[in-house]
Amino acid sequence: MQNQQLMTSLNNGVQMPLLGLGVYDMYKKEAEQAVSWALEIGYRLIDTASMYRNETEIGNAVRQSSIAREDLFITTKVNNDDQGYEKTLKAFDVSLQKMGLDYVDLYLIHWPIKFTRKFTWKALERLYHEGRVKAIGVANYLIPFLDELRLEATEIPAVNQVEFSPYLYLEDLLKYCQERRIQLQAYSPLVRGQRMSDPKLLSVAEKYQKTPAQIILRWALQLGVSTIPKSSSFDRLKENFSVFDFEISAEDMAYMNSFNENFRIVDDPMELL
Ligand code: NAP
Repeated sequence: MQNQQLMTSLNNGVQMPLLGLGVYDMYKKEAEQAVSWALEIGYRLIDTASMYRNETEIGNAVRQSSIAREDLFITTKVNNDDQGYEKTLKAFDVSLQKMGLDYVDLYLIHWPIKFTRKFTWKALERLYHEGRVKAIGVANYLIPFLDELRLEATEIPAVNQVEFSPYLYLEDLLKYCQERRIQLQAYSPLVRGQRMSDPKLLSVAEKYQKTPAQIILRWALQLGVSTIPKSSSFDRLKENFSVFDFEISAEDMAYMNSFNENFRIVDDPMELL
């Protein structure tokens, strides 16, 4: 893992950076500024969603940068109220228009909404077949949702974005996705800052002379999990991107796996099955 842009090949051959920027809970100028800084620092994957109400600002920052569009990887997601076949197709057009882009790299179902999710997936397959998105995927799909999707889908999701951290180590889901070439992507990877002073984490950070955030992000990357930490601070954006110059030993990786406490920031998707 020497190169700054560690890439993964998705199951349809599309290349995606493993490390990206999440932009939840940032708005207006703050969002535009954070994305501009991130692109300057070297981030090439930006993860937004219709729900975050900042697609316009993300699009502005992307279009204002001098980076070629094909070198960027932009993800957005269909909002819960927009799910269903026709509504999803319309919502996609609105997202593209807000961002001022011709295509997105990855379009995700934000949440497995009970009665509409399978029609939403059909709409994503259509967008993919029409070439309007480079890849399609899901978010918050634990194993039962993926099993259900498999029965009807023409396309296998390229990515499954779920809450994932050393404190929510979903080992079975990771194995399931790896066996089926679905790229797992960790959201709330930094546990929104809520475990930064855990003494176990601090001891690993001390050993490698890195920050707790860098240790957590590196742990995910070494598991082959894509990770999308959010920050709107220039210094923390830099910190979170400086994870390519060290390696956590197998022993310390196993130690970090043992931090699991099934701790969730966001609701458990299983409660909605
Ligand atoms: P997160 O990335 O785990 O944590 C973000 C929080 O940690 C912010 O308060 C940030 O503050 C702080 N932070 C960032 N870098 C830090 C560092 N180096 N040291 C200490 N604190 C640091 O949480 P998240 O925003 O929930 O998750 C990341 C992304 O995942 C989201 O932005 C979104 O794109 C995606 N997501 C998806 C879903 C879904 O349902 N699909 C759900 C949740 C999130 P500052 O900004 O002040 O640095």
